[in-house]
Parts: sequence; C-alpha cells; structure tokens
Amino acid sequence: MPFALAIVGRPNVGKSTLFNRLVGKRLALVDDQPGVTRDLREGEARLGDLRFTVVDTAGLEEATDDSLQGRMRALTERAIAEADAALFLVDARAGVTPVDEALADLLRKSGKTVLLGANKSEGAKGAAGALEAYALGLGDPIELSAEHGEGMGELLAALQPLVDAHVSHEAETDVAVEDGDDDAPRVPTDSRPLQIAVVGRPNAGKSTLINAILGEDRLLTGPEAGITRDAISVRADWGGTPIRIFDTAGMRKRAKVQEKLEKLSVSDGLRAVRFAEVVVVLLDADIPFESQDLRIADLAEREGRAVVVAVNKWDAVEDRQARLADLKEAMDRLLPQLRGAPLVTVSARTGRGLDRLLQAVLKAHDVWNRRVPTARLNQWLAGMTEAHPPPAPGGRRIKMRYMTQVKTRPPAFVVMTSIPKEVPESYRRYLVGGLREDFDMPGTPIRLTLRGQG
Ligand code: GDP
Ligand code: GDP
Repeated sequence: MPFALAIVGRPNVGKSTLFNRLVGKRLALVDDQPGVTRDLREGEARLGDLRFTVVDTAGLEEATDDSLQGRMRALTERAIAEADAALFLVDARAGVTPVDEALADLLRKSGKTVLLGANKSEGAKGAAGALEAYALGLGDPIELSAEHGEGMGELLAALQPLVDAHVSHEAETDVAVEDGDDDAPRVPTDSRPLQIAVVGRPNAGKSTLINAILGEDRLLTGPEAGITRDAISVRADWGGTPIRIFDTAGMRKRAKVQEKLEKLSVSDGLRAVRFAEVVVVLLDADIPFESQDLRIADLAEREGRAVVVAVNKWDAVEDRQARLADLKEAMDRLLPQLRGAPLVTVSARTGRGLDRLLQAVLKAHDVWNRRVPTARLNQWLAGMTEAHPPPAPGGRRIKMRYMTQVKTRPPAFVVMTSIPKEVPESYRRYLVGGLREDFDMPGTPIRLTLRGQG
C-alpha cells in the first residue's frame, strides 16, 4: 500500500486547491459520476520524486448551520482513519478559528502523525496567521500557498521521512512474513538527504558540476518529449553526506532559441529552488553576475533558501586574486540581500574546489536550521537597543519588549514592540544585520517581523 496522506481542514482553507496541485490530471474522476456523493476524493500525488496517495475531504460547503461541524468531524475522522498521516490546513490569512481548534483537538487525539500547513501564506498577509498557527500545538506550521505552489519544498521535506519510514516499515513486514523470525523492529534512521538545487544561466557549467558531484557521467534528465515538468532530482552521496540534487537541465537543453532558453532557464530554476534547502547559484567566472544570475539569486533569497554562490571555470582564470576581490565587491554591491553568503571558486571540469563547496553548503544548511534560544535573543536585543535606541516619534520612545525565534529554515524572529508601525525600515535592517553578525548566520535569509504587543 502506498503512503496515504489525508488533507483535512475546515471549508475554504484551500484543500481542493492543494489536492489538485498535488494530483494534477492524474485524478480518478469519481466525482463526475452522477449520484456519487462527493465526500472523500482520492488521487495519486506527485511531489518532487515522491509518490503517494492523497485523500481529500472535499465537498464541504461553507455552511453556517450546525450540521457542518458534525459532518466535518465525521468526514475528517474517516479520512484520517484511511490515511497514514494527516496534513491539517489552516488559512494563514484568516488566522486560527474555533473550528480549527476543534479539528486540531480531534487530530491530536487520533494518534496519527499530523503535519500543520498554513495555506494562503503568499505575500505579507499570511505572516500573522502562520504565527497564530503555532498555538495549535501541532508543531511548526509549513507555510504554503496551494494556489501559487509555494512551500512545496518544505512540504516535501516534511513528508519525505514519513514516506521513507512507511516504505521501510512495509519492507520489514514483507521480510518478516518471509523468514518469520526477525522480531526486533528496525527503527528507520533519519537519513533524509540534504536537498540542493544548482541554478545559474545556461552554460555556467551546471551539468558538469552535478556530474562531478555525482562522480559519474550520469545523465540527469532525459530530453524525451513529454518529460514531466516537475523538478527532477537525483540522490547521491557527496563526501559522505546524503544529498538530493534538483535540476531540469534536460528541458533547458531542448530549447533552441536563445530567448526561449533564457525564459525556460529561469522558470526551471524557480522550480528547483522551491524544492531545495540550499541553492547553489553557479556563476561563470567569465561573465559573473549577469542579470539572470541576479534574478535567480534574488529569487532564492525571497523563497527563503540558504544560498551559496559558486564561481565556476576558475581553472581558466588568470589573475585569481584580483578577480576574487572584484567578485566579492560585485556581490556586495549587486546582491546586498545576500550579505555574508559564501562565495566559493570551483572548477567543475577539474573538480577543484568541490570540497570547499560542500563545506559551504553544509554550513549554510546548518545556519538555515539554526535556533537561537530566547534568553540569548533577549539579552542581545537589550544590548542592541541600548547601543542604538529606536526612534521616539512624537516624543514617545518605541519600546522593543521581547524577542523570540518562531521558525527555522530560514530563521524567523518576532520582536514585540510598542508601536510596530512606527519602527523605520532602517531599524529593522539594523536588527537583522546584527543578528547575522552576532549569531554568525551567513548565507541564509533572516526574517524579522515586528508585532504589536497583543
Ligand atoms: P477547500 O474548501 O478547503 O477545498 O478550499 P478550496 O481549495 O476550494 O479553496 C478555497 C478558496 O481559497 C478558493 O477561492 C481558492 O482559490 C482560495 N485559495 C486556495 N489556496 C490559496 C492560496 O494559497 N492563496 C490564496 N490567496 N487563496 C487560495
Ligand atoms: P550548463 O548549461 O550550466 O549545464 O553548462 P554545462 O555543464 O553544459 O557546461 C557549459 C560549458 O562550460 C561546457 O562546454 C563545459 O565543458 C564548460 N565548463 C563547465 N565547467 C567548466 C569548468 O570548470 N572549467 C571550464 N574551463 N569549462 C567548464
């Protein structure tokens, strides 16, 4: 039996939208048959290279009568009974409602693994609701936008270990049936591979680099017609670290026209970025920081990925020291949003620098996952506000009261303040820059939200 995931939540949170995104056209169209009650839909989902079954509690209209709660409850119970885990969606824009709380309760009691998704998280409006979702006590919410396809990499990362554990559990059960004497359950180890995307303009050397990492001339993507438009990945072992590399080189190589090439490359990159934890932005030493490179690096930052910049074809560079200084200067100037991101020179062709690249990737991943204890943050905040007090608009000094890290991957912080609207952007940048420096967090986006006291 494939792993089955139930998508549950109150009406209108975006369950069907997510279902459709995961299942695409592969849905068994049971609901088109007249007379069939549409209550549980099932489809074969595909996310990255994961395959699983999704069960959706569709067909609940936004009714206001009392019967809704009861029906929703019954339907949710059935869906989770049929599934191995549940994805509980809340609406990040609407925030957490009493109905959500009731469903959360039900899910907690079910004993099933529950993932929490804060849907409609695109843009700024989603942030508050996603924060509220912490209060449901179901762990870190995965910020999603079913409509825009955002957060799919995080969803994949959360599902991967569950699916892997399910698969190895099933394999064990099979073995047990065969030899019947192996009663010590093997605990599946958490060997979730580090997800890496290599992005960059055509001819930067992405395929060469990936092949060098894979250590063999393995063709990543077949250029056959009709190949899936999903990001394609390969699992490998890089210097002892299990990794999964995303690339869509085959599609890019199919494009003939230069202009088309450019477009495809950016959207391919986008897809790979969404699935990645660490994005390696690969530049060509001859033509570094082209507009396309800048766009993709900016995108990786906005998508909240850890970023490592690698300059390729270093074997062909003459005056290396001067060139490196130029590159560093250009990076500070052109990509200020990635301040502190590691810059590594490599030669995909000769393999030089790949060790340093791996070290940079591991460090960036580590920082991206880092959690700073609240006590240290508050000590730090006190020091920062003392060194440079926030402004006092209209004579009332803005107070920075309390700070906590609400999320990792990337690190996100919330500062409780007396008048969040009055805090100038420059002050927010001062805090972000300070965090990066004082807690040694290069190569990762840092999110910082200012909130009223609530
Ligand atoms: P369901 O009742 O939970 O199955 O919700 P639907 O999938 O039918 O979605 C309800 C509404 O929310 C629809 O108008 C969707 O277009 C909208 N919606 C779904 N996902 C998103 C999202 O990620 N962002 C935004 N802004 N709207 C969404
Ligand atoms: P992609 O389009 O980004 O996948 O780039 P490819 O891997 O196809 O490489 C484009 C060209 O750059 C090919 O001719 C490669 O041989 C060349 N190339 C890739 N890496 C290096 C390198 O480290 N040094 C040099 N000198 N050439 C390289």
